[in-house]
Amino acid sequence: MPTYEFECKKCGHKFNLLETIKEHDKHGEKCPQCASAEVKNLVSAVTVKTSRKS
Ligand SMILES: [Zn+2]
Repeated sequence: MPTYEFECKKCGHKFNLLETIKEHDKHGEKCPQCASAEVKNLVSAVTVKTSRKS
């Protein structure tokens, strides 16, 4: 299951959520700190490890 990273637009709290692709499509994520549904997805799937060097 991929981990998604979110940032709350209201309080700026950053958090990670483990969710399935189906759950992710529903956009039901809420900030665990202020319960706002206005969160933005920072990274789509951070479970994927790449050996890319930047
Ligand atoms: Zn928040």
